[in-house]
Amino acid sequence: MSHEMRFCPSCATTLQRVAQQEDGGLKERLRCPACDWTHWGNPTPVLAAVVENDDGQVLLARNALWQEGMFGLITGFMEAGESPEAGICREVQEETSLRVKALRILGSWEFLRMNQVLIAYHVRVDGEVKLSPELVEYQWKTPQEARCWPSGTGYALAHWVRSKGLEPQFGAFRPNQSPEPDPAKWPLQHWSHDERFVLPPQW
Ligand SMILES: [Zn+2]
Repeated sequence: MSHEMRFCPSCATTLQRVAQQEDGGLKERLRCPACDWTHWGNPTPVLAAVVENDDGQVLLARNALWQEGMFGLITGFMEAGESPEAGICREVQEETSLRVKALRILGSWEFLRMNQVLIAYHVRVDGEVKLSPELVEYQWKTPQEARCWPSGTGYALAHWVRSKGLEPQFGAFRPNQSPEPDPAKWPLQHWSHDERFVLPPQW
């Protein structure tokens, strides 16, 4: 279902496509002709976690809306008033009942179709898994067993696998999807002066 913005949320006037000068030049956007409100359409931040247990395995879970055999990372929307770090601890607890005892950032990726930006963490956890109703089943995978997939959460998983000294193996996330990673995103193209840095994508 797509929800296109039609009315100004401030004064309820019908929005119009209006071109205006911005820092990057003339830009057409949905704007309010009455109060000058602009619909920027910024991406929504989504948090994701590569959840690792003390046996060095990653937790992959199947969402209730996904078909059988599709397993992904733990994800959720960032809420107003929290940091991304606090948000991912909350999401992991809500969805799995596991307690995050340590975390580090893995990276950020775009999800253009949903106009979202993914911020992904590697978290270490304590406790027993108890899934929220949103998730229907889960599995623990070793870095050797884990298959990555060519989208943001899959690249986050690839970073985790690589941090274990292994080369990530990619596969399709769903049937009929290409299993090949985007060459702009994987393999990493390190900056020659310091391999912790990667080269920026072409833009
Ligand atoms: Zn308005």
